[in-house]
Amino acid sequence: GTTILSGIQPTGVPHLGNYYGALDNWVKLQRTRRNTTIFYSIVDLHALTIPQDPKVLRQSKRDMAIALMACGVDVKQSVLFEQSRVPQHAELCWILNCITPVGWLSRMTQWKSKISSSNRDAAKHSDAITIAASTEGLRMGLFAYPVLQAADILIYQADEVPIGEDQVQHLELAREIASTFNKTVGEEIFPLPKSIIPQSTKRIMSLREPTSKMSKSDDNDMSRINLSDTPEQIKAKIARATTDSERSISYDPSSRPGVSNLLAIYAACKNILVEDAVKSFTNVSGHKQFKEDLADAIIQVLGPIQSEMNRLHNESGYVDSVLEKGAVKARNRAAETLDRVYHAVGLR
Ligand code: ATP
Ligand code: MG
Repeated sequence: GTTILSGIQPTGVPHLGNYYGALDNWVKLQRTRRNTTIFYSIVDLHALTIPQDPKVLRQSKRDMAIALMACGVDVKQSVLFEQSRVPQHAELCWILNCITPVGWLSRMTQWKSKISSSNRDAAKHSDAITIAASTEGLRMGLFAYPVLQAADILIYQADEVPIGEDQVQHLELAREIASTFNKTVGEEIFPLPKSIIPQSTKRIMSLREPTSKMSKSDDNDMSRINLSDTPEQIKAKIARATTDSERSISYDPSSRPGVSNLLAIYAACKNILVEDAVKSFTNVSGHKQFKEDLADAIIQVLGPIQSEMNRLHNESGYVDSVLEKGAVKARNRAAETLDRVYHAVGLR
């Protein structure tokens, strides 16, 4: 059979970008795939690559589990688990660290956008060694994050990985690492994982700076719609979303990134094509009516998710038992792969 794996960091409540870029796909795959084992992971080890308050992290992990189930992750059809409860991720990561050139990681763009802004410019213009020497704040974990991500995928010998477009570069790296490992040991232990990316919502942009992606870790909460936002918050955030001074509504991501992003979100919420979303606003002048309709559309989508989140918040015993069972299933599968890997490299 086929194996699917995907993950999300417990760095906050998921937002509309996570939902339409990844989670919506997670839920659909459960319904459409037969003879497939699906693993969905709350990747808490990855969260440590940026500073975390332990109390907040513990709470965020639980909230993330609840949010995923409320979005439709069905634990009868997929294995939902916390990454740090499956030690084989970190163990395989070490083996992969030993075959991954630093040069490959230096070409990744995500760590460059997550280091402090004062170090960001230096990072864009120099090679990894210079950065490591000149950038005091660059931690090993943040730099090597994609290797752990490769381990997350390969430890389940996953064939397919549903992701948003921002993760394409990391997935390609995972394929290179997998194929390098296979060649090194002369055995096809890892299938080369393929990405599954939604077409129209592959990258939802920030509401404040529509040229960067919407992110959980953006300091400005006004930049995103969290799945837990109240109708009032949603209205306020959309009303203040960056657009432009042109009065009409048209879709052109390069010249009108703000309006185009809002149109993509509207189309996703209404489950229609972007072209049809544009058509429904042809007679509208100014952005006010469009923004009000968009806010309403978002509120409609989030309503049922939020009532399910509220319900699950009162079922903490159930949530614990789901995560416990998920960890057991994930560990069983991961242990099999790690045995083969340890044997292939000569540790067993
Ligand atoms: P962080 O800022 O902490 O990295 P994030 O918002 O980028 O958080 P992740 O947990 O890193 O979220 O990613 C979870 C999934 O959501 C990944 O598959 C990623 O590709 C997808 N994703 C994240 N942001 C967006 C976005 N703005 N548009 C579409 N997909 C996204
Ligand atoms: Mg991210």
